[in-house]
Amino acid sequence: MDAISHIDCWGRIRTELRASIGVDAFNNWIEPLELLGIEAGIARFSVPTNFMGNWVQRNYADAILHLFKAEGVEIGRLAFEAPSQTAAPAAERVATKPTAKPSEPRLASSPLDSRFTFDQFVVGTPNELAHAASRRVAEGGDVTFNPLFLYGGVGLGKTHLMHAIAHEIRATRPEARVLYLSAEQFMFRFVQALRFKDMHSFKEQFRSVDMLMVDDLQFIAGKNSTQDEFFHTFNALIEQGKQIVISADCSPGEIEGLEERIRSRLQWGLVVDLHPTNYELRLGILHAKAEAQAKANPNVGLDVKVLEFLAHRISSNVRVLEGALTRLFAFASLVGRDITLEMAQDSLSDLLRQSDRKVTIDEIQRKVAEHYNLRISDLLSPRRARAVARPRQVAMFLSKSLTAKSLPEIGRKFGGRDHTTVIHAVKRVEEMKLTDSQIADDVELLRRMLEA
Ligand code: ADP
Ligand code: MG
Repeated sequence: MDAISHIDCWGRIRTELRASIGVDAFNNWIEPLELLGIEAGIARFSVPTNFMGNWVQRNYADAILHLFKAEGVEIGRLAFEAPSQTAAPAAERVATKPTAKPSEPRLASSPLDSRFTFDQFVVGTPNELAHAASRRVAEGGDVTFNPLFLYGGVGLGKTHLMHAIAHEIRATRPEARVLYLSAEQFMFRFVQALRFKDMHSFKEQFRSVDMLMVDDLQFIAGKNSTQDEFFHTFNALIEQGKQIVISADCSPGEIEGLEERIRSRLQWGLVVDLHPTNYELRLGILHAKAEAQAKANPNVGLDVKVLEFLAHRISSNVRVLEGALTRLFAFASLVGRDITLEMAQDSLSDLLRQSDRKVTIDEIQRKVAEHYNLRISDLLSPRRARAVARPRQVAMFLSKSLTAKSLPEIGRKFGGRDHTTVIHAVKRVEEMKLTDSQIADDVELLRRMLEA
């Protein structure tokens, strides 16, 4: 294999790693690596610091070796080369910095994901406040809330919003020095500065920025000397009126092992949470991501019902939702088929199983009413208008096929109807499924939504 195909192969391995270890870990550890070459069974990488090299060696070497092997490249070990440690990287000055040679120390800011922009962020009720606050901070001007503290569960868009702020500032005020990094990296750099007796430039670097963004602050909980340093950095910046943006997986009050003085400082600013996504937001996100995927895979058709199905069935974590869609497109383009409900159910069964549960008649009634834009009381009422009777029959049919309830029990649950009415409904829906594709699709969609 020549050098070019080694690079290609490393590109594919990176893609694999990104999917398997997650975007954050990927950005922290794998993204900064540059493959220098493969010789005599050793893959050599350049890496910003020895510390990072050691970390990757300890944590990811096995996975990387394994993936090389899967590519048909036998490698005995990895080697990492860091630039000389004496020169600590200076805070990034975008405007004055000529294009850096790849072998130079990485800029202080962690790499930003180019897809994490405001444009790509879908806004809904659960995240609108966090989004608005982030926009406001990105606009700059008078600092109205400092720090901005974003918190919320995994995969709800904290990192996306922080990167979006950084992208926006880089585009509109390139001279501003924006430093984005995870709390973990803050800690590593701090430890490294201690080790290399380089505290002076560490402090200099952190205190000369215009905006500091620290992602996943919960990582420094319990790390006392790091917390001290963070506290001092924090205060120094706030005193100079510099903006700080912090994220964490819970509110300042809930981060265990966080010093009290940090906790209270964090509450000076604006604390906003990203709520778990709701159905509308999930559907909006899926539409946006499907559009992007469709551009990249023009030959793959997609049944829109699949998006509704996923929005219903996959819970709040957007990363999981994205992963599901990516997998469907990859699978569909591989086998040269369109994405259908069947395919979604088959190829995502592991994800869907996580939301396994017993279906109840109440749930069926709720979903059917929702689907047909009716009230549940309509389904239970004696009304016989077709717009109500059809959905009611569908709901009865689903109750029969998805629960273990008897016909009389089902009848009772539908406004005290007789079991013969239920039998009739089941027969009717079975017939209609053969002749009316709309009904067949509705039933199928509802069934898949309800079914484990
Ligand atoms: P967190 O940092 O909160 O764990 P991320 O910001 O890494 O979550 O988001 C996880 C994934 O979901 C990312 O790929 C991100 O782009 C995507 N994502 C999350 N929320 C949204 C949203 N509202 N619109 C578009 N993509 C989103
Ligand atoms: Mg994150």
